[in-house]
Amino acid sequence: MSEKNNAANELKEKLFVKRKNAFYNMTEEELTACDEFCEDYKSFMDRAKTEREAAAVSQELLINHGYSEFKKGMSLKPGDKIYSINRKKAVLMAVIGTAPIEEGVRLCAAHIDSPRLDLKQNPLYEDNEMALFKTHYYGGIKKYQWTAMPLSLHGVIVKADGSEVSVCVGEDDNDPVFCVSDLLPHLANEQMKRPLAQGIKGEELNIIIGSRPFNKDEASEAVKLNIMNILFEKYGITEHDFISAELEAVPAFKARDIGFDRSMIGSYGHDDRVCAYTALMATLECEAPKHTVVTVLTDKEEIGSEGNTGLCSAYLKYFIADIADALGSDGRTVLSASQCLSADVNAAFDPTFPEVNERNNCAYINRGVVVTKYTGSRGKSGTSDASAEFTGKIRRLLDSKNVIWQTGELGKVDEGGGGTVAAYIANLNVDTIDMGVPVLSMHSPYEIVSKIDTYMAYKAFAAFIAE
Ligand code: MN
Ligand code: MN
Repeated sequence: MSEKNNAANELKEKLFVKRKNAFYNMTEEELTACDEFCEDYKSFMDRAKTEREAAAVSQELLINHGYSEFKKGMSLKPGDKIYSINRKKAVLMAVIGTAPIEEGVRLCAAHIDSPRLDLKQNPLYEDNEMALFKTHYYGGIKKYQWTAMPLSLHGVIVKADGSEVSVCVGEDDNDPVFCVSDLLPHLANEQMKRPLAQGIKGEELNIIIGSRPFNKDEASEAVKLNIMNILFEKYGITEHDFISAELEAVPAFKARDIGFDRSMIGSYGHDDRVCAYTALMATLECEAPKHTVVTVLTDKEEIGSEGNTGLCSAYLKYFIADIADALGSDGRTVLSASQCLSADVNAAFDPTFPEVNERNNCAYINRGVVVTKYTGSRGKSGTSDASAEFTGKIRRLLDSKNVIWQTGELGKVDEGGGGTVAAYIANLNVDTIDMGVPVLSMHSPYEIVSKIDTYMAYKAFAAFIAE
């Protein structure tokens, strides 16, 4: 009997997919390295809350790691490290490999924009002696989650004379913060009957910014005047200047450990700066790779990758074509031979909401980096479905480098769905697959990732670009 059982267990070990916490397969040294890596990640998150800030912090790191700014026509040789910033919102970097460029590049693509509240172009108004900003939300949010919590304001204002002023208020402990109000439950009878999606409506996401009038003089809109006067004194701006501004309200929290065991990290914007940071770190540490490495940190993924800083734009294609030119080849040949990890997060199984996932095919916290063969919705609509051959290549690579990984699809069939930049890169005739970190409470103001999964994503990107 017991002998029979052993045979069955042995056979199971050989034939079945093993699903378990990555913790069991990590050494003490690796766990220490993982926790240390995540300390730096948290600092990055506190400094890079918007696409502009993430681009600026990345540029600083690139320069510190010996990267120089790429200009079309520059000559390139193996080992060269170059970068380019697209309109202050997207970052391109490359390390030239020793193999002929015709063999293609190893491309990692993550996004640095996250859901948030953007100010409208005429945001400032006074209502009953309170000053507020009108907002237009950016990306997919559950609007009710953005009320009654501290918000900071980040961005840039271009003044009438063309000069620019950057804004960051609410991150320093001595700064004021801002807030969207919600109704008290006592008076919310009607509001509570609304469906959850309309619990807070788009035009109710108004940010409170002040309540004291200007001086003791009697005047209309004195509270608005006082705010405008403060802004004039601090930034030299008038109300007209909001028209050429991009101001983003984001949660004012800092990244923190979650759990008594400190195994997870809570932060705004893990989607997708957890993949941007891990891909960036893997690239910065890459010296003299075989294949040329290109990493792109893009903007506008959350609103469909449109616009000249999103990956539907030609900017990535042009960057690779310029590198190809410098090495005596052409963009089309290089792209057609290239491989890409579309580095983006996936949804983690949430024990509180198990019904949206199919347990055999969803991602779990702590089981490692997630390989997502396809995203999309309904009948795989809108996805780039990675081929069995390319998925097989990636699988072998991860196993050979001891990267702990899992597969995951985004929810049950017909439950909803989503997309990443994978489809747009695959459209350039590049072999592409999604890979990233599983996230709890995705797109909420406070998302959760596991430290182990974050570290495994970094290891996965490092393994891929070292090929
Ligand atoms: Mn994403
Ligand atoms: Mn997203």
